[in-house]
Amino acid sequence: MSNSSIPSFILVIGTGGTIAGLTTDSGNGGYQAGQVPISTLLTQINTKFPIKNMQLSNIDSCDLSEPHLSKLGAQVRTGLADTEVIGIVITHGTDTMEETATFLEFICGGSARNFGKKVVLTGAMLPSDHREADGPQNLSNAIEFAGKRDGQSGIWAVMGSKPIPGLALVKGHSSHIDAFFEETLSPDWIQVSNDLPIPPDNQWPWVEIITSHSGARPDTIRSLEGLGVQGIVLAGTGAGTVHENLAPALERFMEAGGAVVRASRIGRGYVGGSLANGRLAKALSAGYLNPAKARIALQLALFASTQSSPNPLSWQDYFARMVGLPEFR
Ligand code: ASP
Repeated sequence: MSNSSIPSFILVIGTGGTIAGLTTDSGNGGYQAGQVPISTLLTQINTKFPIKNMQLSNIDSCDLSEPHLSKLGAQVRTGLADTEVIGIVITHGTDTMEETATFLEFICGGSARNFGKKVVLTGAMLPSDHREADGPQNLSNAIEFAGKRDGQSGIWAVMGSKPIPGLALVKGHSSHIDAFFEETLSPDWIQVSNDLPIPPDNQWPWVEIITSHSGARPDTIRSLEGLGVQGIVLAGTGAGTVHENLAPALERFMEAGGAVVRASRIGRGYVGGSLANGRLAKALSAGYLNPAKARIALQLALFASTQSSPNPLSWQDYFARMVGLPEFR
């Protein structure tokens, strides 16, 4: 990556998304994400920073896979350690941007802060050839923010003009141009300083999300257990409450060694403590993480707990630290 003619530069990693999308028909709003290379997208913006780009994938982020994340994590870590890299910008689809932000926070947020660098995700709600395309401005803002030495190192997203801390990023609207909001994290949220290991492509623990809803049935949980699923994130109702039909199956899943985390299908707000009705007393709560983010966190916690280390921790210990729960630490 190093090139002696460029003393320092922003590394821009292209992964796809609507920001790299192209319209497929006229007038109906149809388009395909992940069509235009990052090198072309960069020709549409002006920046004072020297740039190097890298195309890691060019996908619709609804197709994001665990190998994609492993590859991106390794590349971001390499970039952070490269003394020539000022900061890193990642173009990404908006559908799973918050999952990637969560992943990056837990596998390299600590080293980004130690190196004093920013890793900034950006994307767009309109394809690159739309006449009101938001991608160029977002990309330009993300590069400016990544290059600014303002002491705010770590994992971020820039959509529109407002930077949002990676862990606080939530896509809260399916189609609005201003689709993201910043979750209000409590002031005592712990920033994990020890980055967790990146699971190799085929070693990601299998974690599924189950939603609690009226008329819920336990059969799905029993099937998942039979299939060898290691963890379940409950997208619970309200503050992580669970249907009486699901609770016993989830308890059995935990007794058999499965990991259960309680989040809320509402997708914003805090899920903590225990339930007043005593259900799922042994499950951990997801704190401020919505189900999709909690799933990534649980995968990383489960994987970390299987790695040899001088001070081995259980998945519960890792997870509690990651989400700032008082229970374990
Ligand atoms: N489906 C697209 C993606 O996530 C949506 C977007 O980028 O806005 O790649």
